[in-house]
Amino acid sequence: MATKLLLTFSICRLIVTVGLTLDPSELVLLGVDGQLSVDPTDVETASLDFGRLTRATPPLAVLHPASAQDISQLIKAAYRSDFGFTVSARGHGHSISGQAQPQTENGVVVQMSGSRRGSGRKPPQPRVWPRERYVDVWGGELWIDVLRSSLEYGLAPKSWTDYLYLSVGGTLSNAGISGQAFNHGPQISNVHELDVVTGIGELLTCSEEQNSELFHAVLGGLGQFGIITRARISLEPAPQRVRWIRVLYSNFSAFTRDQVYLISLHAEPGSQKFDYVEGFVIVDEGLINNWRSSFFSPSNPVKISSLKSNGGVLYCLEITKNYHESTASTIDKEVESLLKKLDFIPATVFTTDLLYVDFLDRVHKAELKLRSKGLWEVPHPWLNLLVPRSKIADFEKGVFKVLGITISHPQFIVNQGRIPKRSVIYFIRWDHRSSAVTPDEDVFYLVALLRSALDNGEEIHSLEYLTNQNREILRFCDDARINVKQYLPHYATHEEWMNHFGNKWDWFYQMKMKFDPSHILASGQQIFTPTFPSSLKMGTCDVILIGMEVLVTPTAPTDRLVLLGTAASLLPFSFRPDALDSKAFVAFPTAHLQAQAGLAT
Ligand SMILES: Cc1cc2nc3c(=O)[nH]c(=O)nc-3n(C[C@H](O)[C@H](O)[C@H](O)COP(=O)(O)OP(=O)(O)OC[C@H]3O[C@@H](n4cnc5c(N)ncnc54)[C@H](O)[C@@H]3O)c2cc1C
Repeated sequence: MATKLLLTFSICRLIVTVGLTLDPSELVLLGVDGQLSVDPTDVETASLDFGRLTRATPPLAVLHPASAQDISQLIKAAYRSDFGFTVSARGHGHSISGQAQPQTENGVVVQMSGSRRGSGRKPPQPRVWPRERYVDVWGGELWIDVLRSSLEYGLAPKSWTDYLYLSVGGTLSNAGISGQAFNHGPQISNVHELDVVTGIGELLTCSEEQNSELFHAVLGGLGQFGIITRARISLEPAPQRVRWIRVLYSNFSAFTRDQVYLISLHAEPGSQKFDYVEGFVIVDEGLINNWRSSFFSPSNPVKISSLKSNGGVLYCLEITKNYHESTASTIDKEVESLLKKLDFIPATVFTTDLLYVDFLDRVHKAELKLRSKGLWEVPHPWLNLLVPRSKIADFEKGVFKVLGITISHPQFIVNQGRIPKRSVIYFIRWDHRSSAVTPDEDVFYLVALLRSALDNGEEIHSLEYLTNQNREILRFCDDARINVKQYLPHYATHEEWMNHFGNKWDWFYQMKMKFDPSHILASGQQIFTPTFPSSLKMGTCDVILIGMEVLVTPTAPTDRLVLLGTAASLLPFSFRPDALDSKAFVAFPTAHLQAQAGLAT
C-alpha cells in the first residue's frame, strides 16, 4: 500500500517535472517489488558522486530494486517507451565525474547498493558455495560485505581494490585493481558468471560458456551493456594474518626494477613470492614523520634527512605476505629471503603485522578520520593512468621533475591516509576479451594521482589548480608519446572515446548496438547519446534519415556517423560520411522523416 501511495506521488511529481516528455504511466505500470522513490534525499544523493566535481541534472526518480526483475521491468519500460527515459545503475556512487548519473533530463537511477531497506522484498543476500569456492552476490553488494560473508566459511575473494566500500557491479564495470592483481589478475578476471539485465530489459545469465559475448562485454564495460544483478566470484581459503612491509628507495630505477622483479615471481609457489605489491612516492621531508605515525612503530624511527633522497623524493615499495597462524614460524624466513634480493636503502625496512581483514579494510580507517574532519566530502579531481613499463621513466621525469608537479600535499596525505601511488600490474591474467582497456605492453603501472581540492584559500589546493594540472599531465603524455590509458576513464567527445578504445572500438560499438540499441544505459559515461525520439534535437541534425525506424545523425563525430535507433531492427554497423551517397538515401526513404520532423534532407 505504502509503495502504491509513493508511486502515485511519484507520478504526480513526474508530470509536474517533465510535462509530457515522459509518460508517467510507463513508470506506474512497472509494478515493482522495490521502491520507486522521488524523495528529495534520494534524488539529491543520486545527483552527486565521490568526485563532487559536477552536480548532475536530478533524476526523475530513484529505483531501489528488490530483484533483477524490478530492473528488467524498468528497462523494458524505458526501451518500449514512446517518450523515452534513460536508466543509470548507481553502485555506491564512488565515481569521480558523474559516470553513475544520468546525462539526460529523463533519467531514472537504479540505486544498486544499500537497497535492502524498508519492508517488503529485498535483493538476495550473498550465498557462499564452500565446496565450489565461489560466492553469488547481488550486483550492488559492497566488497566489505562480500568479504564478511565469505569469511564465515573461512574463504575470501582473491583480488581486491584498496578500498572495500565499493560495489561489485561498479568495480566489475571498470576492472577492480589492487596489489594482488599481478598474482590473480584484476577483479574482472575472478568472476565465473554474471546475471545481467540488458538495455532491452532481458535478464541473461552469462559466463565464458554461456552468452560469452555479453560476459566479456560487461566486464570492464563501463555499464554500457547491462546492469549486473548477480556476480559469481571466485574464492580462496582466507589467510588469517598479514605481514605488511614497506622499504624505501632513493633511486627510481632500482625501485621499478624491484617491482618488476617481484611481479615476475607470480608463477612461483606461494612461499617464494609476495601476495601484494604496490608502491608510492614520498615527496616531502616533513611527511615522513607523519607518515610514520600511521604505519611505523615508534621504536622504529627513520630520519628522512639521513637518507640520500633524490631531490627530496623517496619511493616506497609496499609488499605483504599472507599467512596462517599454523605457518607463522616460516614467515620470517620467507620474507627475509625475498627482501635479500631487493635493492632498497639499507635499514629502511618497516614492518607491521595485522589481521587479514584489517589489512584489506585499511583505507576505511582513513575514511573515518577524514569524515570526522569534514575532509571526505570535498571535490576529488582524481586522475588514474595506466602507464606502459617502457615509458615509466619518461613519465616520472616529465610529470614529477619537468612539470614540477608534486603529487600530493603532505597534509593531504596525512589526512587521507591514501598516498598517491604506483602499483605494478602484471598483464598475465588480464583477459583481452573483456572491455577493459590497457596499454599495449605486458607490464604497465597504475599511477594514481588521488588528490582532494580544499577550499582553504591556497591556490595549489584549489579545484581549478588541480584540474589544470591534470590537463597538463595528459597533454605532456600526448606530446611525449607516452601511450597512457585512463583507468576509470572520463572523456567529453566521441573521438576521445574512440581513441581510448583503439582497436576495441568497433567491437565495443557492435556490442552496444546488440545489447543496448537505444543507448538507455549508463549515459553518465558520455560514450553514446540516448536515442529515444523525444530526446532528439531535430534542429541540430544536418541530415536525418528514418527508415526501418533507424535514424542517422551526423551531429556526433566527424569521421563516423552514429546510428540513433529506437527499434530492435537497428542495424549493427555505422555509416561513414562518404557512404552517405544517394544510394543510402534510397535505402532509407525520407518520407517518414519528413512526416515526423518536418525536415527536408
Ligand atoms: C576511496 C576510493 C578508493 C578506490 N580504490 C580503488 C582501487 O583500489 N582500485 C580500483 O580499481 N578502483 C578504486 N576506486 C574506484 C572505484 O573502483 C570506482 O569508483 C568504481 O566506479 C566503483 O564505485 P561504485 O561501486 O560506487 O560505482 P559507481 O560509481 O556507482 O558506478 C560506476 C559505473 O559503473 C556502473 N555500474 C554501477 N553498478 C553497476 C551494475 N550493477 N551493473 C552495471 N553497471 C554498474 C555505473 O553506471 C557507472 O557507470 C576507488 C574509489 C574510491 C572513491
